[in-house]
Amino acid sequence: MNLTNYVKQVSLEDFGWEFRHQAFWNKRLRTTGGRFFPKDGHLDFNPKIYETFGLETFRKIVRHELAHYHLYYQGKGYRHKDREFKELLKQVDGLRYAPGLPAKKLKLHYQCRNCCTDFYRQCRIDLKRYRCGRCKGELHLLK
Ligand SMILES: [Zn+2]
Ligand SMILES: [Zn+2]
Repeated sequence: MNLTNYVKQVSLEDFGWEFRHQAFWNKRLRTTGGRFFPKDGHLDFNPKIYETFGLETFRKIVRHELAHYHLYYQGKGYRHKDREFKELLKQVDGLRYAPGLPAKKLKLHYQCRNCCTDFYRQCRIDLKRYRCGRCKGELHLLK
């Protein structure tokens, strides 16, 4: 989808106000769903939120960022703690916080005995069945 056009559409349909700047996908956003940049008025959005939770949730995140955007240009309280921000967000049914993305907890560290390649896994793996992906060597658990 064309992200900027989508944001413009949500802005008109849900706020009745025009979005006049650009919106971009930003893969570097980790836990936040989006970001508003008062400096030049553009919005960044996290493609992982869209891929993981779908369009319905994503639209609520677009509303959240648009609430920052519109209040900022109207000279009103546009920060999370501001009363005007909270009220506008409630009116348009925006998300207060981005839904949590599964945190990467790759705690287990395995290593190949043969080529010393490191592997990180969330759960224990069966060392009798799994071999090194590079050289088929035997793996062992470091911690
Ligand atoms: Zn925000
Ligand atoms: Zn190996």
